[in-house]
Amino acid sequence: RQSALVSRWTGPGRTADGVEVSILANVQDGASARTATDFPVAGIGLFRTELAFLDRASEPTVAEQTTLYQEVVDAFATDSGAHTAKIVIRTLDAGSDKPLLFADQGTEANPALGVRGLRIAFADPGLLDRQLDAIAAAARATGGSPWVMAPMVATAAEARGFAAKVRERGLTAGVMIEIPSAALLAPAILAEVDFVSIGTNDLTQYTMAADRMSSELAGLTDPWQPAVLALIDRVASSGAAVSKSVGVCGEAAADPLLACVLVGMGVTSLSSAPAAAAGVGAALADVTLAQCQAAARAALATADPAAARLAVADALHA
Ligand code: PEP
Ligand code: MG
Repeated sequence: RQSALVSRWTGPGRTADGVEVSILANVQDGASARTATDFPVAGIGLFRTELAFLDRASEPTVAEQTTLYQEVVDAFATDSGAHTAKIVIRTLDAGSDKPLLFADQGTEANPALGVRGLRIAFADPGLLDRQLDAIAAAARATGGSPWVMAPMVATAAEARGFAAKVRERGLTAGVMIEIPSAALLAPAILAEVDFVSIGTNDLTQYTMAADRMSSELAGLTDPWQPAVLALIDRVASSGAAVSKSVGVCGEAAADPLLACVLVGMGVTSLSSAPAAAAGVGAALADVTLAQCQAAARAALATADPAAARLAVADALHA
């Protein structure tokens, strides 16, 4: 029955009792943004800008970047040219598993714990400033209002500094919550920004001290781990308390069962590979918010991922 529902589900995202959840796409360039419109997604929850520049030896000019960001912002424009869809652009997350030649930090003993993501802007603020200039120019040229977020934020001061740069360009500012310190500091970070988005891939890696690329450690790099669920719950409830949008843009958002748990915790948008959207949308359409909340409570009371999955399946089908 579920697979028939999945193939028929066309959105928009909402629970059986009508609670809206934005189901969004992760993209990496103009072509993937246009392809995403073939799926039942309401917009883009994560544009990984660094992936568009992996083959570049030198920094793309502001004009080149503007053209790219315009393409992505325009992908979800309506036929009449209106820009109503949510588009979230992430500033460069260079380093570690996503090395960029023009932002190379040299050899680091522990690149995942090194100068990556927003940290590159500490030493070279121009790179971030030029990218934000290009995003602002793309917003002006299209008439769209993309949201802009920073990767790898560890402190509230980092969130404040980034938000100031984004807002002085007239744009909406957020940060990713993907370092455990940021999840623990969620209330203080939410006070500095307009929205947050939880990157469960890195949040899991750093919480469990287990490399996300290691297949040997897949049992640990599982977002159903209780410590990871507890941190996500902390961020979601902190966001709900101040009525700010809390997204999830890691691959956890592609798991239909976990999506129900995330919504039960208070997550307001789910972004992943667009092929996952129909499964997630169909799963949410089948359950009420109260069931999602019961599923979240059940998951948080378990001691390991297998028990959490079973408890959630039970809670949702009760
Ligand atoms: C994440 O860490 O969960 C995330 C969405 O970002 P990336 O996978 O690009 O690191
Ligand atoms: Mg990440």
